[in-house]
Amino acid sequence: MTFRTRFAPSPTGPLHLGHAYSALLAYKFAQAEAGEFLLRIEDIDQSRSRPDWETQIYDDLGWLGLSWPQPVVRQSERLPRYRQALETLMNMGLVYPCKCKRADIEIAAGAPQEGVSQFGPDGRIYPGTCRNRPLSDAGPEDVLRLDMQKAISASILRTFSETGAAYSGTHRLDADTLLNAVGDIILVRRNMGSSYHLSVVVDDADQNITHVVRGEDLFEATQIHVLLQGLLGLPTPIYHHHRLIRDSAGKRLAKRDDARAVSLYRQQGASPAEIRAMIGL
Ligand code: GLU
Repeated sequence: MTFRTRFAPSPTGPLHLGHAYSALLAYKFAQAEAGEFLLRIEDIDQSRSRPDWETQIYDDLGWLGLSWPQPVVRQSERLPRYRQALETLMNMGLVYPCKCKRADIEIAAGAPQEGVSQFGPDGRIYPGTCRNRPLSDAGPEDVLRLDMQKAISASILRTFSETGAAYSGTHRLDADTLLNAVGDIILVRRNMGSSYHLSVVVDDADQNITHVVRGEDLFEATQIHVLLQGLLGLPTPIYHHHRLIRDSAGKRLAKRDDARAVSLYRQQGASPAEIRAMIGL
């Protein structure tokens, strides 16, 4: 099987050193395995995605010395495909509409209990207020959620292999963790037609990705992805979650950290080799 990996940025801000690390590492792995490196633009959030950020991504990655096959897949063009996957889950009876706003969820979740996490990889763990609403009730203001209890009952919980240093080994999905530390995740966000979790799972499968290389901050979300792969009958790739690039205060870089933007280093005359040296590649 040909090794295939991808770098999947969202065009919602400048690429910073953390993105450069992710892209260069995935590229390096692909080269070492005589495999392929793909670029995918994760732009389902049309309220935050901008064409000039997308152009800047192509420009920065090209400057860093990376190349990738054309055409580049853009998630905003694949909404019918995500809908198809969603319908599979709907037909299995695993999806319900939810009208709760952030404040409703906070109130329903109640006071924090000691030792019980209120947040999971999809944000605040949903208290289940709308869980019994039928799909026929769904309106334009609703999000669509996965009923985690039903999803666990409907699937064989898979294992996945992780090769990144921090979590290296084989991991088995765990029903208790999915239920209590993940909960009813959102499959379709308001005004988006999909969600990160649904899109990433469908795309990785459709693009025959064999190895997912990405930051450690997404390790906990991987159990959601592997669960969805099981439900949708899609293959599970091998995962490599790499260390995060941090600023001098030890904080991980975010999109708003423009000071670490690759484009800014370029403007200041840095070379691609200097960028690699900065991130230890
Ligand atoms: N689009 C995601 C991000 O920019 C990356 C998702 C992934 O690699 O799975 O954080």
